[in-house]
Amino acid sequence: MLDCLPEMVEPLGLAEAGRSFRGRISVNGLSRLVPMLVTDSGELAVTLEFGIDERRVAVVSGSISGSLGLVCQRCLAAMDFPLDLRFRLGIIHSESQIDQLPDGYEPLLITGEPIAVYGLIEDEVLLALPAIPAHAEGEHCETGYKGQAQPEERPNPFAVLEKLKSRT
Ligand SMILES: [Zn+2]
Repeated sequence: MLDCLPEMVEPLGLAEAGRSFRGRISVNGLSRLVPMLVTDSGELAVTLEFGIDERRVAVVSGSISGSLGLVCQRCLAAMDFPLDLRFRLGIIHSESQIDQLPDGYEPLLITGEPIAVYGLIEDEVLLALPAIPAHAEGEHCETGYKGQAQPEERPNPFAVLEKLKSRT
């Protein structure tokens, strides 16, 4: 595996050659994603593996990991969204080939032109994001303590003392 990510790739040729790449991409280069983020700093770790699978399907598989700062749509505070996804794309030349892809493959339609790695990664990240980002139930915004993480479910050992105090 090469420790670099090319900017542009020609998927079919790389699949035939069985090449793979590993590297990091800057979040601020993902222009469709940036408007959804509280900060565009940071990087995502990416692997890309090109090959021909046992069914003779040319595939691009890979992984994306890192963390994105999204805006919680309930309390409008920042929320960390950890990314750790894997994808597998079957390379096709026309939309009519989509039906021929085995289960578990997303289609990657190629025209013969090289494709941009940032665009490919960005597509996968956008697919993985929640439609409406929000903190998990019982966490953060549910507690009413906006802007700070406040553990809520934990029993408070001082609650009993508070009750006793208020009686006197
Ligand atoms: Zn929230």
